[in-house]
Amino acid sequence: MQTTIHLTRRSALMTGAAAVLAGAAGVAPRVALAKAEMKGTAVPLFSRLKLGDFEVTTLLAGTRTVGAPHGIFGTNVSDADFKAAADAAFIPADKAQFYFTPTLVNTGAELILFDTGTDPAGLVAAITAAGYAPEQVDKVVITHMHPDHIGGLMGEGGATFANAAYVTGATEHNFWSGQANELFDKNVKPLNDKFTMIDDGGTVAPGITGMNAYGHTPGHMIFMLESGGQRLAVTADTANHYIWSLGHPDWEVKFDADKVGAAASRKKVFGMIAADRIPFIGYHMPFPATGFVEADGSGFRYVPASYQLIMGEPG
Ligand SMILES: [Zn+2]
Repeated sequence: MQTTIHLTRRSALMTGAAAVLAGAAGVAPRVALAKAEMKGTAVPLFSRLKLGDFEVTTLLAGTRTVGAPHGIFGTNVSDADFKAAADAAFIPADKAQFYFTPTLVNTGAELILFDTGTDPAGLVAAITAAGYAPEQVDKVVITHMHPDHIGGLMGEGGATFANAAYVTGATEHNFWSGQANELFDKNVKPLNDKFTMIDDGGTVAPGITGMNAYGHTPGHMIFMLESGGQRLAVTADTANHYIWSLGHPDWEVKFDADKVGAAASRKKVFGMIAADRIPFIGYHMPFPATGFVEADGSGFRYVPASYQLIMGEPG
């Protein structure tokens, strides 16, 4: 009686492997002497780029996996639409990886930090890994005053950045000053005397300009860096997910205080970045949080940076 064997591709591969082993008959099988330990997943803590005469370092102050992302992003669309966007991007729909990425800019004259993560420990670990000390930071710029941006300002021993001056948007500071907010009172108020408030078009340092991008919070600001004829935008929380927010700027986001205003800011800011083909750093983009966008339908396609900003002269 004939037996028909149907090989799946996997069993065909296994059969091949068995044949190879059989061919090595007479050779004693190797015994693994020591099992290497499992290390767990790993991500780098910093990435340093060049923008004209500036050095720009993105710092991974923290990352974690969060469940039920549809409760946060695309709250005005169906489960099916949400999952379809996830499927198309090869990411799960039932959980998401969150990143918190402050940016450190060395202009040559000043070391300027944008945002501070959820706590001093994660931020200082990344700053140290990148080769700096917190005492070297000359200015701290706060894009907006959510806990994951002001959390690193203060620790048990007081201010994390002993020698820093501070910059933030006047509208943002005024808004939180008028609220009962424990973290603002603890982390920002004690530094009030050291804060400079700016408005749309305000300058942080030569080559660094603030722009209003309201909506996520009442006074949320982004910053344009320019050096040696090159530009890069620090877009903070204008878009908080590279698919569900950049790809679909009209999808509502739980964390946006003004849903309509935030969507308008997303379209305006990323429309400009797409038109000018300039790189941006997004605080919650997948680390190292640097990329480009192109207009795509009613939203934007995220193009992670590869080597554009680390290249030297050919030679
Ligand atoms: Zn944030």
